[in-house]
Amino acid sequence: MQINPSPLLGWVVGLVMAFIAMPGCSEEPALDAAPHSAHPEAHAVVLTYHHVSAETPASTSITPAQFEAQLDFIDTQGFEVWSLDEIVSAMQNGAAVPDNVVGISFDDAFESILTNAHPHLQARGWPYTVFVSSSDIDAGRKPYMSWAQLKQLAQQGVTLGNHTHSHGHLTAQQPGENEAQWRQRVKDDIATAQQRIEEQTGVDAHLFAYPYGEYNHALQALISELDLIGFGQHSGAIGPLSDFTALPRFPVGGNYTDLSRLRTTLETRPLYVAAQPKGPLVLTPESKLGAKPVLNLTIHPGPYNLAQLACYASGQGQMQLSKQQAAGTYRIQPKSAVQVGRTKYNCTAPHKTAAGVYYWWSYLIMKPHSDGSWYRG
Ligand SMILES: [Zn+2]
Repeated sequence: MQINPSPLLGWVVGLVMAFIAMPGCSEEPALDAAPHSAHPEAHAVVLTYHHVSAETPASTSITPAQFEAQLDFIDTQGFEVWSLDEIVSAMQNGAAVPDNVVGISFDDAFESILTNAHPHLQARGWPYTVFVSSSDIDAGRKPYMSWAQLKQLAQQGVTLGNHTHSHGHLTAQQPGENEAQWRQRVKDDIATAQQRIEEQTGVDAHLFAYPYGEYNHALQALISELDLIGFGQHSGAIGPLSDFTALPRFPVGGNYTDLSRLRTTLETRPLYVAAQPKGPLVLTPESKLGAKPVLNLTIHPGPYNLAQLACYASGQGQMQLSKQQAAGTYRIQPKSAVQVGRTKYNCTAPHKTAAGVYYWWSYLIMKPHSDGSWYRG
C-alpha cells in the first residue's frame, strides 16, 4: 500500500542522486533507500470491458467484431498482454517493465465474456481477469454467468477478482448509519463475495474492483487492511508509484471503442500528481468547496511537457488552468457546476519527445442528490 508519500519522495531523491552520479556514469543511485525508484518510468495500462455483445446496452458494450479488432490491434502493434497480477507485482517490486504492457479486465461477469471474448483470448494465450459481484451470480440473474461457468473459466487460467457481493455504491452511508456501522457493513459485503467466490470456484481472490469505480479514503484503508489490490474506473496508467488501493483502468465501451483511441490509451503513462484537497471528493451540500471545486495540483517532475498540460472535467470539456508560482504547481477549476453523479477531472501532458504519448492523471468527484441520497448507476 502506498498511501504515504515516501516512495514518491524516494523517486525524487533517486532522480537527484542519479543526476549527481551521472558525470562519471560509474555510480548507481542509492536504490536500497528507495526500493520503488529502481524503474520510476515503468508503466502499464489496464483495459476494462463489461459486455462483449451487440445486444446489450451500448454504453457498457463492445460488439464482438470491435472486440476482435481491438485484440488484433494489440497484437499487430506489438503490445504484450500481462495478467493484472504480473503488472501489479512488477510495479510493486520496482522491476523493469517493457514499454508495451497491457492488462485486460471485465467487470460484472457477464455471459458474453464466455461466449464472445474467452475463445479469442484463450486462442491467443492471453491472461485476463473477471471481477465478480457474487449476489448477481447467486441469484442466477441474466445476463450474468453461473458459478459453474466461472469455475470453468478459473480452471482454464482466468483470474477471478472480488467486485463485492452487493454491487452497491460503497461510499454511501445508509440513513442513520454511523461510520463504524458503515465500515462493518462494507467489510462484510466484501468478505461475503470473497467467501462465495472461494466456495463456488476454489479461487482465493486478491484483486478487488470498486463497483462503479467509486471509493474514498476510508474504503482504501479497508482494502489495504484486507490485503486486496484495489482497481477503480478512472483513466490512467499504472506505475511503481501508483496507489495500489485505487489503480486506474481505462473503460472501453460505448463511444470509446475505435482503434485510434485505443492506440492513445495503450500509449498512456502515469502522471503523478498530489492534489489538494486529496481525492476522491464527495461533494455534499455541506461541503465548503462550492459547485465548481478548485484543486491545487503539485505535479512531480518527469519527462513530460507541462507547458502543454491540459485538464478536462467529464461532461463539460476543458477546465480553467493557471500555473502557480512554485514549479510544477497549478490551480484548476471547472467552468460549470459539477452535476449530480460521478465527475472526473482528467489532466494530461504529452511526452517531451515521443509523439502521441500522454501522461495521464484522473481525479474522482461524487455528488449525491441535495437530500443526501445517492444517484443510481
Ligand atoms: Zn460493476
